[in-house]
Amino acid sequence: MSAKQPILPPAMLGILGGGQLGRMFAMAAKTMGYRVTVLDPDAGAPAADFADVHLCAAYNDHAALRELAETCAAITTEFENVNAESMRWLAQHVPVSPSGDCLAIAQDRIQEKAWIRKAGLATAPYLALDTVADLNHDLSPYLPGILKTARLGYDGKGQVRVQTASDARAAYADLGGQPCVLEKMLPLRCEVSAIVTRSNAHEVAVFPLAENRHRNGILDISIVPAQLAPALAEEAQRMAVRLAEALDYIGVLAVEFFVLEDGAEVALVINEIAPRPHNSGHYTIDACVTSQYQQQVRAMCGLHPGATGLLSPVVMVNLLGDSWRADGGEPNWDVLMQAPNTHLHLYGKAEARPGRKMGHYCVLAADSEAALQQAEAIKDTL
Ligand code: ADP
Ligand code: MG
Repeated sequence: MSAKQPILPPAMLGILGGGQLGRMFAMAAKTMGYRVTVLDPDAGAPAADFADVHLCAAYNDHAALRELAETCAAITTEFENVNAESMRWLAQHVPVSPSGDCLAIAQDRIQEKAWIRKAGLATAPYLALDTVADLNHDLSPYLPGILKTARLGYDGKGQVRVQTASDARAAYADLGGQPCVLEKMLPLRCEVSAIVTRSNAHEVAVFPLAENRHRNGILDISIVPAQLAPALAEEAQRMAVRLAEALDYIGVLAVEFFVLEDGAEVALVINEIAPRPHNSGHYTIDACVTSQYQQQVRAMCGLHPGATGLLSPVVMVNLLGDSWRADGGEPNWDVLMQAPNTHLHLYGKAEARPGRKMGHYCVLAADSEAALQQAEAIKDTL
């Protein structure tokens, strides 16, 4: 089902997943006057603080799914690894976005890359390894490369860098012989992402491109506007729209790109997609006319996408558990909190663990270089 009439406040909106993305979705929806039900098996789910109802059950729990279908006017997700079957079942009863089919594609790197190519868009050279027999192909076009599990990889998990064919075979066995892709390691000039919203009336809006810097496989900093030629930034936005259209996608779709530089040639390839708001789009809360979470609400409610204009250059910094003291003590927030052009967002997670996303902050300044310098200086004071 898709929403034929716009769904307006104070309707109840449902979300599968109650992590930080679900929390920021719930905050946006509540501010707009909607009510929110979160389905998440974790009693301490960050989104529960802002939800009217927290169904504390598994993502495929029948009673919980039935309650969602009966009580919500529309349903979305913040997490791609919910059961696509759950979304398909819900869709028989209530408008659901994104669709279970789009979720299933985004859950599987093999399908994801095939769809990107089918849309006429570039990926890194890759070989799908459905079974161990696929390792008998000539692997040399993909080496040195990265072996990535087809499913359940995130923040660099489920990935092994390999130099030779025998490395690749050993790594495939180490990953448990599950379906994988072997992807050629490319020389990256930088990484960027575009977040597109597509409504059920097929209107699209794309946020300004973010330039993303990673640390240990986890997003560290996003810089907006990206320090990229305007023509290239527009091309990335067009590619994101084209992919959303090829998937007949409804909702918020994040598209991650590699920017490659080979002499004078600069090229864009799509790395991966996320069928939801994205860590690299947190900046939209503080620096855009509409946030990515408001867009998610608008898309699921059958409203026109909101305007995506950038109100100020901005740099977002992720706060990982590593910034907390070994005894769990808080970082030193003083400098960050005293700065007049900085916004702190904490996700309300009880336990800080290394690598765990605990919050983020945004620095708004006259240009992205100044914002970056200040953001880095603040990092050193935490
Ligand atoms: P995840 O799902 O963990 O985000 P990605 O495929 O985005 O997985 O890989 C994580 C990071 O590893 C990327 O952001 C990029 O920095 C690096 N990386 C991944 N694939 C390649 C590649 N083919 N060439 C160079 N760097 C890569
Ligand atoms: Mg990634």
